[in-house]
Amino acid sequence: MAQLKIGEITVDRVIEAEGAGFFPGYIFPDADPDGVAAEQDWMAPDFLDPASGRLLQGNACFLLRRPGMTMLVDTCVGNGKPRPSSRTWNNMQTDWLDRLAALGVRPEDVTHVFNTHLHVDHCGWNTVADGDRWVPTFPNAKYLLPKTEFAFWADPANDAVTGTGANDGCYLDSVLPVHEAGLATLVDVGDRAADDMWFESAAGHAPGQLTLNVQLPGERLIFTGDLFHSPLQIARPEWSSKFDVDRRAAAERRRQFIGEHADADTIVLSAHACTPNAGRIVTHKDGRTIFRLLKDL
Ligand SMILES: [Zn+2]
Repeated sequence: MAQLKIGEITVDRVIEAEGAGFFPGYIFPDADPDGVAAEQDWMAPDFLDPASGRLLQGNACFLLRRPGMTMLVDTCVGNGKPRPSSRTWNNMQTDWLDRLAALGVRPEDVTHVFNTHLHVDHCGWNTVADGDRWVPTFPNAKYLLPKTEFAFWADPANDAVTGTGANDGCYLDSVLPVHEAGLATLVDVGDRAADDMWFESAAGHAPGQLTLNVQLPGERLIFTGDLFHSPLQIARPEWSSKFDVDRRAAAERRRQFIGEHADADTIVLSAHACTPNAGRIVTHKDGRTIFRLLKDL
């Protein structure tokens, strides 16, 4: 997405990787081919590659800037992290820090980091290697970590319980070092990052996932993390992702969210939607709720 600018706030995306990703039927086990085909009219070509039938997905961090604040929302996979559950993410190397620098931000400039949840693709750049240690990448930042997530992943047995490699060791190399450095603040539903910025529950995908809401005059921005893995779920909230730890709760929260924000002055910023990214939930002519990019409104 091009830079989003509303009032004093700007939002950019710092992309780690993106392109044609999962087949809908793989990531959404309940999705049937006819159901997916019925959503092609609005999904293609921005959210679904019509040639391959794959979802267009990305892994990106949001950079929110306003006077006195430089915040990163979800910090992708990171470099050089051992991730035995994923061939793509294991020991990954990208120039993500250079991409952040290209936007004029040095690590020491970052004032806040917020992880919507503590899965491996949302907190990786929290730390970088320093010899054989992992140290905070952003030495001056206040790291805002969901309290329930922090407690849940502290028990290594829980990664095995979820069975998806969702954490894959990242608690130890990307979360704990930040806490031990004294930079972590545990946050919960209703807590605020600023007077007009607060957290709401998006539990289901992960036990303590939070959204970040920013209320501007006449417009709300919501960073939704993995409440939606693809805009497809805005038409089909019942199709939970195979990575959702509690699929029923995740579907219920999606329905509620869609009900609250359809046709409202709300801009949705989703962690894995491809470029361009920012858009709104709108009611289609036949009554379905769908996702429309800002550029198309
Ligand atoms: Zn994710």
